[in-house]
Amino acid sequence: MPLRSDLDVVSPATLADALSFLAEHADEGWAPVAGGTDVMVRLEYGIEKRTRWIDLSRFAGELAAIGEEEGRIRVGGGATMTAVRRSSLLADACPLLGAAAATVGAIPIQNRATVAGNLVNASPAGDTLPVWLVLDAEVELASGRGTRRVPYREFTPSYRTTVRRPDELVTAVRFEPPPKERSRLLFRKVGTRAVQAISKVVVAGLLRTDATNRLVDVRLAFGSMAPVPVRATAAEREAIGRAPSVATGRAAAERLDADLSPIDDVRSTAAYRMRVARNLTREFLAGRLGEPPPVL
Ligand SMILES: Cc1cc2nc3c(=O)[nH]c(=O)nc-3n(C[C@H](O)[C@H](O)[C@H](O)COP(=O)(O)OP(=O)(O)OC[C@H]3O[C@@H](n4cnc5c(N)ncnc54)[C@H](O)[C@@H]3O)c2cc1C
Repeated sequence: MPLRSDLDVVSPATLADALSFLAEHADEGWAPVAGGTDVMVRLEYGIEKRTRWIDLSRFAGELAAIGEEEGRIRVGGGATMTAVRRSSLLADACPLLGAAAATVGAIPIQNRATVAGNLVNASPAGDTLPVWLVLDAEVELASGRGTRRVPYREFTPSYRTTVRRPDELVTAVRFEPPPKERSRLLFRKVGTRAVQAISKVVVAGLLRTDATNRLVDVRLAFGSMAPVPVRATAAEREAIGRAPSVATGRAAAERLDADLSPIDDVRSTAAYRMRVARNLTREFLAGRLGEPPPVL
């Protein structure tokens, strides 16, 4: 993939070749580029100073598979948002992923943007990231030293950083499909436009009730509401054991102050973001929001 003449680009033919190149040269400032939808913008604006890039496109197929493995779903790090959006396996296992992928930029971006790129770019506004939090997903990292798995909730410890080591590639994300019975899912991105907008607030949610209509599983995750995507654990705890209702929703929404720390920026104000987050939480826990979202 030609980038710019002032950049050094290597294009390994296989994943194994890429990992052995990284094993030898990672400390010389090389980093991967997949769809390039973050990297190229950052290079163009001079935010990214790195000049040495490992192009993953020659073996994109090796990293792109979406399948089942030992009762879990495995989404290849190189899967594009379009592939995620179109996957019938994912639509069945958890339609939240397709719904999130369908809100990334617009179709041309979705055709290039990858799952691993969204994870490693680690923007607090990354649209797929709250979904991985809700799914308690694990990130698979491969290097010449072998493969390790990291719970996604530990993958981004602080603003735009990850625990990925310089010689590692993100090869997949894994999750256990959540039970479908008596459950309800939520994905909602609130931005300036329906497409091509970075979120002011993005939320993913999952709730499940028992036979007596008590909430036994409540998971809520927000993006653009803190330096990293976060689970709203105080709100979740507040709702557990209660029946879905407006009162439950209100009680949980009041606890969001403990979970979220939004800021004023060019896209929105902290006050607007909190209000939207509270409204979405209340309506979801009242059972008035969050049918399985349509996959576009
Ligand atoms: C016009 C436009 C609109 C956008 N809109 C949205 C949006 O609405 N929502 C949203 O979430 N994002 C949006 N983005 C950002 C971007 O499209 C996503 O973050 C995308 O998922 C990045 O994937 P990529 O393959 O293009 O990553 P790249 O740009 O190739 O890489 C991004 C980062 O990930 C690293 N990386 C890539 N692959 C791997 C790998 N396999 N292993 C380890 N590290 C890797 C790179 O080194 C780099 O640090 C937008 C971008 C543009 C240009």
